[in-house]
Amino acid sequence: MKRFEYAAPRSEAEIAQLLAPEYGKTEILAGGTDLVELLKKMVVTPDRVVNIMEVDSLKTLESLPDGSFRIGAAVTLDDLAASPYVDDYPALAQAIAGIASMQLQAQGTIGGDLCHRAQCWFFRRGEPLLAPHRDAWGERDDRYHAIFDNEGPAKYVSGSRLGPALIALGAQLRIVGPKPDESSLVPASQFFRKPKHDRQRETILQSDQFLSHIILPPADGRLSGTYEVRSSAGPDYPLAAASCAFRHSGGVVREITIVLGQVAPVPYVALDAMDAMLGMPIDATTVERAAEAAIANARALNQNASKIQWAKVAVKRSILVAARLDTGGF
Ligand SMILES: Cc1cc2nc3c(=O)[nH]c(=O)nc-3n(C[C@H](O)[C@H](O)[C@H](O)COP(=O)(O)OP(=O)(O)OC[C@H]3O[C@@H](n4cnc5c(N)ncnc54)[C@H](O)[C@@H]3O)c2cc1C
Repeated sequence: MKRFEYAAPRSEAEIAQLLAPEYGKTEILAGGTDLVELLKKMVVTPDRVVNIMEVDSLKTLESLPDGSFRIGAAVTLDDLAASPYVDDYPALAQAIAGIASMQLQAQGTIGGDLCHRAQCWFFRRGEPLLAPHRDAWGERDDRYHAIFDNEGPAKYVSGSRLGPALIALGAQLRIVGPKPDESSLVPASQFFRKPKHDRQRETILQSDQFLSHIILPPADGRLSGTYEVRSSAGPDYPLAAASCAFRHSGGVVREITIVLGQVAPVPYVALDAMDAMLGMPIDATTVERAAEAAIANARALNQNASKIQWAKVAVKRSILVAARLDTGGF
């Protein structure tokens, strides 16, 4: 590990002042479950690490006057899961439960999950985030890589486990910086980005900005669910995942968002699947059609064709889970 300066600010303004205007010079430390590994392997080599866990305003869970639910970015997954407010958002509760490790849930934070670096074993062993040109990709073992939006150099998948659920639920994210008193709200759907070159990262956060809060609109009777296709019940990343949230009247879908995780460099909004569900009754035929539509544009790399089927299953079951129709045998 490279030597670095350690800072433990006590306020949001202090965090912003400690962050450098260039990626890589400073890194934010929350629970550290992802960052410490990257520091140890020298995938990131900052001059300064800024620990945000001493800032009280980032550790609050509160219901706002309009019924929204505001979550501090440094709230641990355990504290979030224990909050009664989460009961209104099953897609989020199920995604947290999927991280099946007491240690990770006790230590990991919601902000750390959203800003979690890319899932790519080449990147995590020190290679650049953006892969060589397609011709140079050769016969690489890419069984866990992207099946959507994978034509360019970004072939990894987004590492965020909660991102798809938060997008489906219509969350807004509060970003602070670069000036200490500067903040903005962005929809979670616009937070993730596919970097075009090495001077960009996997979210829209600039190097001198940080995520301070996540705001969920009132559930207002919306149903939601998350389903992960996994290789085991242990603390490992899903093979494919999907979250959805919808409103219905008389069993007919009036509004729906379906978002896939672990399949693309950013959480993948399955527009064709959403179209297939709109105005339709929630039954086996419609759900099957939506799942087919979700994977219509998938494109396998060398070794990840199975992921297309896993993604289809995840979409199908996330809708059934949300509708409380998942019997396990469909
Ligand atoms: C053995 C092991 C297994 C794991 N398995 C899983 C798994 O199955 N599923 C899963 O999703 N994750 C897994 N993880 C990753 C990790 O535990 C979670 O993603 C966790 O939620 C990250 O939160 P953290 O607070 O520990 O983040 P940190 O490690 O502190 O930070 C993660 C990244 O986010 C940045 N960051 C953190 N907070 C902010 C903020 N507020 N604003 C801007 N940037 C910020 C950091 O700079 C860093 O780049 C695993 C990790 C380990 C070590």
